[in-house]
This record gives sequence, structure tokens and C-alpha cells, in this order.
Amino acid sequence: MGDKEKLLEIRNLKKYFPIKKGLIKGRGNQVKAVDDVSFNIYKGETLGIVGESGSGKSTLGRMIVRLMDATEGEIVFEGTNIEHLGTRQMGAFRKEIQMVFQDPFASLNPRMRVGQLIGEPIAIQKTFNKKERAEKIIDILGKVGLTAEAITKFPHEFSGGQRQRIGIARALTMNPKFIAADEPVSALDVSVQSQVLNLMQDLQDELNLTYLFISHDLSVVKHISDRVGVMYLGRIVEIGPKKNIYDNPMHPYTQALLSSIPVTNFDGKREKIYLKGEPPSPSDPPKGCAFHTRCPNAFNRCRIERPELILHDDGQSVACHLYSAPFTNV
Ligand code: ADP
Ligand code: MG
Repeated sequence: MGDKEKLLEIRNLKKYFPIKKGLIKGRGNQVKAVDDVSFNIYKGETLGIVGESGSGKSTLGRMIVRLMDATEGEIVFEGTNIEHLGTRQMGAFRKEIQMVFQDPFASLNPRMRVGQLIGEPIAIQKTFNKKERAEKIIDILGKVGLTAEAITKFPHEFSGGQRQRIGIARALTMNPKFIAADEPVSALDVSVQSQVLNLMQDLQDELNLTYLFISHDLSVVKHISDRVGVMYLGRIVEIGPKKNIYDNPMHPYTQALLSSIPVTNFDGKREKIYLKGEPPSPSDPPKGCAFHTRCPNAFNRCRIERPELILHDDGQSVACHLYSAPFTNV
């Protein structure tokens, strides 16, 4: 990966949410939703982000597309730190960076027809006349596998899979370079999931897109990703090429996740990731390695010292003391 061009560099990104606990105005109580995360996203790749519910995946995605300010850290897009940019300065970058959400129905205005929904960003741009706009809308609909008939319909007239196609079409109108997709197929039946994933892959090839693909579902992430990052309690605990992560997971958490991939049920529904014990609260994460309370391999050092993410072989990085130099300080 070292010779590949970076599109995005995420540097020490943090998001701490204050907790309001009743009337007690306690100092320093906060949820560390994303806690010091750094990684690159390379041009043309799909980087999958996987982890249990509450591990900070959505918060990370929202910060990267600038829907949410970071508490700390940098988001460098093609060499420019966009984290501190205000609305006006973001202007040029807004077009390049788009997001696709889990529930396309919730993110689409139910009173707007599909033509308006997709045409809205183009209309704001004012560079196209009415006829050109209509042509562009039909072209984009075609790209996501819908016909011109869709233009006059409302979102509720479509199936879940079709609505996600509309959500993707809307993200494509400004010719973005980068799309963050947050659980884009998690609300869909398994058969429809693969259609939408295949569509996203075709569009990626055709339009030179780079994806950040967020999902709690390891099978979905395996299907679409080139590299995969595993999150636990606001941190990346392991990241690397898909093959390494799935065939040779190094972090005990990744190993546990993979051993818990559920078999698809007869009704086509997937079960949640199952792992022994509940994840600790991100407002009070365990000291040392945050995973040590659930880790079958934990030893003394893990309870004391937080492991850094260290590059091992072949672009695979892991934050785990099993692989670092021995503890010398005792
Ligand atoms: P995921 O997408 O992996 O399920 P989230 O990013 O949604 O995780 O949430 C990470 C943590 O941050 C959770 O503990 C969640 O409750 C908390 N959180 C998310 N958004 C907010 C918010 N707006 N205010 C306070 N806490 C939040
Ligand atoms: Mg989420």
C-alpha cells in the first residue's frame, strides 16, 4: 500500500461527547466515542470499518465527511487539512466528499419526488439549465439501475433496495471522489444486499471512487473491502489488507469477531455479532488495553499500558502487547 496515493489522512482524530448526568455537573465526564484514531485512505480503495455497536464507527464516518466537528485531530484531504474549515471554506470539498446512510428513507425528504431529490444538488450549483439538469438526472438514475420513470415518483413508492439506489444516486450528483457509506445495506434483505454492494463496486470502477465502508457485519465488509479496520471502544485495534485480517487476524478481538460470524438464517436475516460479555462503556473504558476485560490472552501489561497500533507485516497493523517488545519497566 505504501506506493499508493493517499486521498485522506486521518491523524489522531478524537470525538468526546460530554455527558449530562441529572443535576450533577461533574467535570470531565465524557464519552470517548472516537479516541485517537489515525489511518490513511488510498485512492480507489474501499476501506472497511467493522466493530460492535457503539464502537464509534458512525461518529468516525461523520467526522470524516465533516457532518460533525472533531474534538481533536486532523482530516487531510488531498493534502489540505479540512477539519478546521468553516462552511464557506468547505465549499469546494463538499462536492468531493459525500455520505450514504443506512436508512435511505429517513435521509430522503418523503415529500420530494426522486427527480427533485437527485436534482437538488445540481440545481443549487446553477451551472446547468433545465434540460441539461434533466439529462443529468436520467444519466445518474441509469448509473444506479433505475429508469427515467422514477423521476416523478416519491421515495415510498420504491422498495428498500431501490431507495438505497436513490440514496447512492443523490451522493453521486456532484461527482464526488470519496463516499463514506454508513451501514448502507444493513436494513436490506441479504439477496438485495449483494445487489447494492455489486452496484457500489461497479460504480467505484466506473467513476474512480474511493470508499469508506462502515458496517457491523463482517461478511458484508469482507465482500466489498480492499482493506479492513477493526474498531473497539473508539480505537482502531487492527487494520490491514482484507486477506490478512480475515485469514490471519492478529488481535484477539478480531479473532473473536471472526469466530462469531453467524451463519445466515433460513429467513435470510443475519444475527448480531456475538461476543462473550458486553463491551465496557466508552465513558469509563478499562485502563491499559480497553479489550483486556474480555481478552482470553490478557496478561499483566495489558491492564497497565495501552498498546499502540504498530505496523507488522504486509501493511497489517495491530495494537496488542502480544506482538510488541516485552515489558521492561518492572
Ligand atoms: P457505532 O456506529 O459503532 O455503533 P457510534 O459512533 O454511533 O457507534 O457511537 C459511539 C459512542 O458514542 C456510543 O457510546 C454512543 O452512545 C456515543 N454517541 C454517539 N453519538 C453521540 C452524541 N451525539 N452524543 C452523545 N453520545 C454519542
Ligand atoms: Mg453506527
